[in-house]
Amino acid sequence: MSRNPRYDILFEPVKIGPVTAPNRFYQTPHAIGTGQQMPHTRAAMREVRAEGGWGVVNTGYCSIHPTSDDAPLPYCRLWDDEDIKVHALMVDAVHKHGALAGVELWHGGSGAANRLSRATPVSVSGVSSDYSYPGWISLTKSRPMDARDIREFRRWHVDAAKRAKSAGFDVLYIYAGMGFGPYQFLLPWMNKRTDEYGGSLENRVRLMREIIEEMKEATHDSCGIALRFSADALLKIPGEHMESEAHEIVSMLADVPDLWDIKSSSWTVETASARFAEQGAQEPWNSFAKKLTSKPVVGVGRFTSPDEMVSQIKRGVLDLIGAARPSIADPFLPKKIDEGREDEIRECIGCNICVSGYHDSVPIRCTQNPTMGEEWRRGWHPERIPAGDPDTSVLIVGAGPAGLECARALGQRGFAVTVAEAREELGGRVTIEAQLPSLSTWARVRDYRTNLIKTMSNVDVYRGSQLSAQEVIDFGCDHAVIATGAYWMRELINADGFPVEKFDGNVFTPDEVLSGIDVTGPVVIYDFDHYYMGNCLAEVLRRRGNEVTIVTPANAVSAWTFMNNELNDIRNRMLDLDICIELEKRITGFNNGVVQLSSVYRSGKASEIDCESLVVVGHRTGNDSLFNELNEDPERIENAGIKSVIGIGDCRAPGTIAHAVYAGHECARTIDAGDEDPVILVERPSLSLNI
Ligand code: ADP
Ligand code: SF4
Repeated sequence: MSRNPRYDILFEPVKIGPVTAPNRFYQTPHAIGTGQQMPHTRAAMREVRAEGGWGVVNTGYCSIHPTSDDAPLPYCRLWDDEDIKVHALMVDAVHKHGALAGVELWHGGSGAANRLSRATPVSVSGVSSDYSYPGWISLTKSRPMDARDIREFRRWHVDAAKRAKSAGFDVLYIYAGMGFGPYQFLLPWMNKRTDEYGGSLENRVRLMREIIEEMKEATHDSCGIALRFSADALLKIPGEHMESEAHEIVSMLADVPDLWDIKSSSWTVETASARFAEQGAQEPWNSFAKKLTSKPVVGVGRFTSPDEMVSQIKRGVLDLIGAARPSIADPFLPKKIDEGREDEIRECIGCNICVSGYHDSVPIRCTQNPTMGEEWRRGWHPERIPAGDPDTSVLIVGAGPAGLECARALGQRGFAVTVAEAREELGGRVTIEAQLPSLSTWARVRDYRTNLIKTMSNVDVYRGSQLSAQEVIDFGCDHAVIATGAYWMRELINADGFPVEKFDGNVFTPDEVLSGIDVTGPVVIYDFDHYYMGNCLAEVLRRRGNEVTIVTPANAVSAWTFMNNELNDIRNRMLDLDICIELEKRITGFNNGVVQLSSVYRSGKASEIDCESLVVVGHRTGNDSLFNELNEDPERIENAGIKSVIGIGDCRAPGTIAHAVYAGHECARTIDAGDEDPVILVERPSLSLNI
């Protein structure tokens, strides 16, 4: 197929100083959880984007000096020449496919806690940002930089730029955003200096100008210098001559950098999930810049629609379409547009499971793209998969995310696949959960797979087909894959967090609420699942007009969602909807229209709230009776010619949608491997340092 001419504009080259991006697809700097310790994993994760058509592929944040150390979070570094090699691996991998490689040089200023290096943090005036999450709170404050420190700060940038050039990078960043070092100089509430770096805006901008000019001087024959700049907070400060200080900064520095990368000052805002922000939500912060500079402007916006990308360019908002999440979910997004296959784009659903990988300091994983992070250690490619035997038949029972991904990947491998789904609708839990408030994008997990399966002549799908063990046996297949999902339990938990018996009366599970059962208020939601279901059901039931209270033993509503950056947005939504919140409490009894609560702390202080209906959002258990029955009698299976019965996804171990998709994909890749252990490479520290 050929490209739709409507999208030609996306494939125009763009000059970034002395280098040229081959097209407008730009993978902006973003962490991938590999840090400096996993160079092969990182190189492979970045390489697939270059192969998939992203014209520029950047690293995540890369520290320039030990005074900017973010341990234990996974950052990379260019502290000395020994660090160059690790980067060269990625650069070479990206260059192989004709893309430019960029590096996000980073100094955190007071935002770097220096837990590993133990260097005293330095910042513009010793004023620290207020972090209230335990993992981010630093017990060391920064010291104000003196004139010598500022000279050093500039030198660190230049030295790192030279090293980056040696590694082969084409685009070098200075990072003046998100509360980090150079950005702190711009902010009047952080910059209290009385020398030539403080006071007037021209003075506050001075350091940035100097660093860009010095980096250019050191590397400009071969590298473009990009300025990453957070505009949202500065847009709110009125300028002396222009609408805002953000306008004045861009106009003062207009053509000094070779590229402007405009972003928000808060990571949680920038990575707002689809539940809380639409595609293109950053436009209010980045659309002002293009009128003030002749240099290209890049910004993100979870863009997955080529029409929206074209619109951003034609309306003069952006020159380059920046992406982190869309490039994670589909590294081949540009190639698919180029080849007229935009129907095959695996669209990001905006769930932010990838973000949680960073917080966990592990290679990021993705709900939509099960190969993310597995490119090197398992050799999984996002588009290619080894061919299988077309005479081998596989019956998949259940068409949720696990069953559908397994069917899609087995179908791609060429096996003879049959899918039996009990319901008329495919998609399992995603079809149901996509109906929760603002979660409609989750249906993309189903749609991407069903769209491809439809085109595969070797995959048959039967809806409304609830299979028993005997029916599986009678069907006759080489392999039976059981992907029958899970259900929510009614059990509560005791003071130690272990399951205990259930209460009688109006006690409901999420499955029952989602099936439309009538729930009368006041409603209490007892949430010890700690993810989205508790707060989503609270929203559903509140919007139906009920009084709703969430009770949780945790110290925040949906406490896990700190990990995917949704915590603040969820809390705000609960506040907006007047949903009551009882933190750090367990439910100990429910009768006569009242629930009894007890504090989780030693006092165990008791209290009560009115409650007509109790919804328990706690544990899930696998719907594994079919799997167990089939495995009960190996002889019966063998006699039927079935070589293996494999349970995947929630039916064996309830988890996120990402876990289920991964399990489905893994099963499809390994179904014909027999008893061989899978090859999983491990990154190992090298002892060959030149010291
Ligand atoms: P997962 O997340 O593991 O894919 P889901 O709960 O989303 O699990 O999907 C499981 C699917 O399996 C559901 O669509 C359900 O209707 C289907 N299912 C459960 N039991 C059977 C069965 N015996 N025969 C056919 N389909 C089944
Ligand atoms: Fe998008 Fe979710 Fe994948 Fe992140 S994990 S890239 S948000 S689909």
